[in-house]
Amino acid sequence: MNVYENAKSVIRRAGEIGKIDDDLIRILLNIQKEIHVRFPVKMDDGSLRIFEGYRVQHNNFLGPYKGGIRYHPDVDINEVRALAMWMSLKCAVAGLPLGGGKGGVVCNPKEMSRTELERMTKGFIDAIYLDIGPEKDIPAPDVYTNSEVMGWIVDEYAKQVGKKKEEVLGVVTGKSLSDGGSEGRGEATARGGEFVLMEFMAVKDKKIVIQGFGNAGRVFAKLISKNARVIAVSDSKGGIYKGEGLNIEELIKHKEETGSVVGFRDSSEIENNELLKLECDVLVPAALESVITLENASEIKAGVVLELANGPTTPEADEILFKRGVQILPDILANAGGVSVSYFEWVQNMRGEKWSKEKVDEMLKEKMGVATKEVLGKAKELNVNNRLGAYVLAMERIGRTQLQ
Ligand code: NAD
Repeated sequence: MNVYENAKSVIRRAGEIGKIDDDLIRILLNIQKEIHVRFPVKMDDGSLRIFEGYRVQHNNFLGPYKGGIRYHPDVDINEVRALAMWMSLKCAVAGLPLGGGKGGVVCNPKEMSRTELERMTKGFIDAIYLDIGPEKDIPAPDVYTNSEVMGWIVDEYAKQVGKKKEEVLGVVTGKSLSDGGSEGRGEATARGGEFVLMEFMAVKDKKIVIQGFGNAGRVFAKLISKNARVIAVSDSKGGIYKGEGLNIEELIKHKEETGSVVGFRDSSEIENNELLKLECDVLVPAALESVITLENASEIKAGVVLELANGPTTPEADEILFKRGVQILPDILANAGGVSVSYFEWVQNMRGEKWSKEKVDEMLKEKMGVATKEVLGKAKELNVNNRLGAYVLAMERIGRTQLQ
């Protein structure tokens, strides 16, 4: 099953368990709009390449579509559909007046120069600009896109619609501060995940394992290492382990210098699949989808899985972990800090305001604390796992809006 089928199967299951209106379930199993584009980009050597990109707009009952843009060789329509669907549910769980969308371009950013990435980003925006906008659909960063890419998006969108950049800042979030971004956005996903975890359990001295060392995983490692012991981390090149805990500040420097966590002094190497099975208190998948599956779920030794990545656990693995008493803090709750601060950024852009980091962090803490209590409460009420609890909560909220 692909991730889109997985996402739909959980919606069906949650719909049954939560006695959700059949019409709403059918609506949520369908995607409102899919945009599939092919666009030309001049490469540095003068050749022309045609890239393929998607923007999927799943549901906008709660507000404008919202969701990141991913650059990865494995991007495909089903992945983008699933990610868009999860965004609709995530915004609802976090109590945001936003719908769900997602985008992706099939490319390998590691093999492209900065100028090629800029031209590709602008080419993609030229192809989809009529379908996005501050009150229509608001992209953000995701895997292998960052604040610089978001800056290129605002520039190109402003050019296409013939407005000044300052007038259309709300077209995209996750921008740098100098481009109209918000304080706290860069670390929001990880900080939100930390707030969720701290609402759920005491983290002091707990052993943490993290898969992925990018925006989500690296920042989470940095924040949580102030209280807990990060004993293993990995990136796309491999993993490292140190039982007494890794020095995260130094590890971040090592990754900046060498491009990977691998080879960090005073640590041993570990295979990515072995890393997931390490004895620890909290396992944090923070890379890609479907890494905890039927094959390895029975060997996961963590007591808690905090899903900073989207869709890291398949539905079959969910069942196994639930039966074994492993608590999952599901993606649509655990990583909702990113879209929450994206929403704060958008509000600031629309109102021409600038909020302090203290205010943003305080509001995020409040939002994630409330959402965590609500998800855990719903799961307990229905006697189901936290993911189903979160889905039911989200579907109830979307269902409360007027069906058209
Ligand atoms: P990123 O591009 O900053 O980092 C991705 C990391 O994953 C990199 O360290 C990369 O080396 C690593 N990785 C890739 N393949 C791997 C593999 N096979 N094994 C181990 N590590 C691997 O991306 P990100 O923004 O940190 O996103 C990571 C996950 O978090 C994604 O699922 C994304 O959808 C989700 N997420 C991100 C945000 C956000 O604000 N950035 C918000 C919500 C959810």
